[in-house]
Amino acid sequence: MAGRILIADNVATNRIILKVKLAASRHDVVQAGSVEELLQVARESLPDLIIADIALPDGGIEAVCEGLHAEPELSTIPVIALAPLEERRTRLAGLRAGADEVLAKPLDEFALLALARNLIRRRATFTELLHKQAITREFGFGESAPQFARPPRLVLVPGSPEAGFGWRAGLVGKLHARIEVRSRGDLFERADAGEEGADAFVIAASLAEERDGLRLISELRSHSASKHALILLHDPTADPALATMALDLGADTVLAGAFDAEALSLRLDRLLEQKRERDALRAAVEAQLSMAVIDPLTGLYNRRYAESYIARMQKRARQKGLPFTLMLLDLDRFKQVNDRFGHLAGDEVLKEVARRLREDLREIDLLARFGGEEFLVVLPDTGRGEAARVAERLRRVIGERPVYAPSRGCDIAVTLSIGVVVSDENAPAARLAKIEQLIDRADRALYASKAEGRNQITFVRSAA
Ligand code: GH3
Ligand code: MG
Ligand code: MG
Repeated sequence: MAGRILIADNVATNRIILKVKLAASRHDVVQAGSVEELLQVARESLPDLIIADIALPDGGIEAVCEGLHAEPELSTIPVIALAPLEERRTRLAGLRAGADEVLAKPLDEFALLALARNLIRRRATFTELLHKQAITREFGFGESAPQFARPPRLVLVPGSPEAGFGWRAGLVGKLHARIEVRSRGDLFERADAGEEGADAFVIAASLAEERDGLRLISELRSHSASKHALILLHDPTADPALATMALDLGADTVLAGAFDAEALSLRLDRLLEQKRERDALRAAVEAQLSMAVIDPLTGLYNRRYAESYIARMQKRARQKGLPFTLMLLDLDRFKQVNDRFGHLAGDEVLKEVARRLREDLREIDLLARFGGEEFLVVLPDTGRGEAARVAERLRRVIGERPVYAPSRGCDIAVTLSIGVVVSDENAPAARLAKIEQLIDRADRALYASKAEGRNQITFVRSAA
């Protein structure tokens, strides 16, 4: 995944060498020579990633991260810090300052590119979620659901039980997380048994051995319970080429060298925080999307959903050569109900009618609120005979028993008029009715029921 990368180094030749490498991978590169310039260029060009020397002339990586953090537009841009030497102290300081990764010079080109792709992709996921959220907001669907804050669940998968004790002991107290140790064999068994998904896995893997770690990453990524989990692999002797593949396959980090609990907890802290934000956003978008298709008064699907559902169902019915039935149901003289009992009681009637209809239909039938006091029912795999029985049941379930309105403390009698279209599965494809035509025919049948005195059912047949 190519993106815009901001390189910050006060030595121009360093910048140029790096720029050539990144540009060869189709990244668009912008440059800065100081912290101040970095922040300025970041504001102007909104890069997807920043690669900064750990010590710029006017400040270190701490100043960079602090400056980015202070501006909402810039605060989610990932940062790679470049250190002059491979040194534990420097790496820890960089991670503590808020860098996503610290790399030592001389840079391994492939490792850097893999890391860049990885960080850019992770941020793109976040940006995509923000974008979806903005769209659902535009539709006018309210605020996100509050997130229930629980400590994240971290699953350690060490190479041996003894190593597991060491890992766990090193991390306990440093991380706000529930830490569990699992064996490799246990991993998918428990997920298959419906165990709640982990937020992060730290797995001892030997990337060189039978491509062991690589296959595991793909498996975790394809499993629904771990699809969004963080995956950190520990391979003491990680070969850079294999580590690169691991990152491309979806690992979040490959930890090389001896197990370093402190560096790991700093990384996890940041990764878990970012994941929490992504999860919250994802949940909010899903909640908003469901609001986009659900009618708030009755809890039924709305017209928008019903129309796209009919289109899909019509296609499937045709492929299978099966009939289907579409009905429009309209409450009779409902305006009078509002006039006599008030709008609130009218709402109560609508809710109860929706509930009775839903209860009378099969799970696979669609029931939607199509308009004010109008409902739409779609019955898959249903021809004329069965449709007639269903329509009659629905008519009765509403008309035979009045609806109790709590706000008024009284019963209100209502009836339904119904218009039914049954598809003709033998009609030639060329005569396939458009959705609007189908609905229009049901509407005309409904109108006939009204004209006949209401509380009636009228049928038409249609090429569908
Ligand atoms: P008809 O038998 O011809 O269908 O008569 P009607 O009075 O039901 O039809 P009309 O289209 O004249 O009026 C529909 C009424 O439904 C108007 C409106 O007050 C009422 N209505 C529509 N949506 C709602 C709603 O969400 N809540 C309530 N309480 N009433 C609604
Ligand atoms: Mg009506
Ligand atoms: Mg109406």
